[in-house]
Amino acid sequence: MRLIPQPYCIELTGGTTQLREITKRETVSGFGEEEYELLISPGEIVVRANTDKGFYYADITLKQIVSLYGTVPCMKIHDKPRYQYRGFMIDCARHIFSVEELKKMISAAADVKFNKFHWHLSDDQGFRIELDSLPELTEKGSVRDCDSFINCKSDKPYSGYFRKEEIREIIAFCRERFIDVIPEIDMPGHQSAFLHVYPEFTCKGDAVKVKTSQGIFKDIICAGNKEAKECIKKILDEICELFPYDTVHIGGDEVPKANWKSCEKCAEIMAENGLSDYNDLQCLFINEMALYLKNKGKKCIVWNDCLKGKGLFPEIAVQHWQKGPERTSGEANKGRKTILSPFNPFYVDYPYGMHPLKAAYKYEPEKLKGLNSDGKKSIIGVESPIWTEHINNNERLEYMCFPRWFSVAECGWTAKHNKNYAEFYEVLLRLCKLYREKGLNIAPEEDWNPPVLSRLSETIKFFLPKK
Ligand SMILES: [Zn+2]
Repeated sequence: MRLIPQPYCIELTGGTTQLREITKRETVSGFGEEEYELLISPGEIVVRANTDKGFYYADITLKQIVSLYGTVPCMKIHDKPRYQYRGFMIDCARHIFSVEELKKMISAAADVKFNKFHWHLSDDQGFRIELDSLPELTEKGSVRDCDSFINCKSDKPYSGYFRKEEIREIIAFCRERFIDVIPEIDMPGHQSAFLHVYPEFTCKGDAVKVKTSQGIFKDIICAGNKEAKECIKKILDEICELFPYDTVHIGGDEVPKANWKSCEKCAEIMAENGLSDYNDLQCLFINEMALYLKNKGKKCIVWNDCLKGKGLFPEIAVQHWQKGPERTSGEANKGRKTILSPFNPFYVDYPYGMHPLKAAYKYEPEKLKGLNSDGKKSIIGVESPIWTEHINNNERLEYMCFPRWFSVAECGWTAKHNKNYAEFYEVLLRLCKLYREKGLNIAPEEDWNPPVLSRLSETIKFFLPKK
């Protein structure tokens, strides 16, 4: 019996049952939050779990057995996840997707036991979350001159944001599927849309445009500007109120420091805190926001770029995506909670030729360079992001994510000794057929693992200037 993700332990006990639903639920103590037992015999299907989440996972396992195989063999399944954090991220800043489309993505992810939806809601190219206290952020910050990042015709502006009731609808949808929603407000870089509304919060005070191209931009929030930081805290106030979860993502990636280096206010706060390195100033900024969130009972996650500086609060979790694996593993070895989102192969906005399905399946979190046995315990899970600079429609979004997200799901859930690519691949064909019938635009099989030559050409094509 092969499923996705493969359960921890399956023991076939002979025969089949005509039953298709759980007939008895037993609450047992001593099980983990997501752990369950599914005992299938001819006359009954019993589930044992300790929480509603455990019962839910047993339900979706049974549903998958029925939909994949039709017949239900008698067996005993004991299941629990390898990692507590199994995430997928959708960038709704570069392009926005409808509530209906997000539900479609979330639903498919929930079926393979993902439990974190990381929602990227602000970036250089748009601020997409309605805030009552700062309505100008969406009025002005959600609009850019054009849709396409390649062929910008400024007569066709692009805009859109999520109203609070839409966000609550997504949260309710996720809650039914035991998925936590982790909103991200990226700072102090990737904030051109915010700074377009408040140019006085940059170091120089010059006008900032909502960006219409991909890139890393020097317009960042002045780290020495008290009003800027108060405004960010106001945003966080509303985010914390809106999202009833214990975690907020505050970004911290790709922060070019050129403007900080020529700013008096930044120099002043550096001196006050005895800092000489601008990476440390970034840590100071992030720590201030983390402390603010901590006082509201919230934890935070940042991208691993924040480890370039010294003094990042140890309780801040790090999401590792690129460069400096030793820095990340060094911190993990000291106990810092770490989420792995390796650019290669988990960034699924890159073509299959660069990040093939098989590579996503074979990725082994414990092989992060420099990780010791303590560090392995700090790895709380994995996450696959989709960035949407070049993705502006549902079909493309679905094509890029699926089936690669099924690989990542197994990476997060399935015990190391139960992973087997050939077995996974066989059942994946069945699973993809089912999802295609449900209308999900899954990439065709021939695209999943392109041969070396076309991988090379896809890679070159990706990096050539786009017209
Ligand atoms: Zn400054």
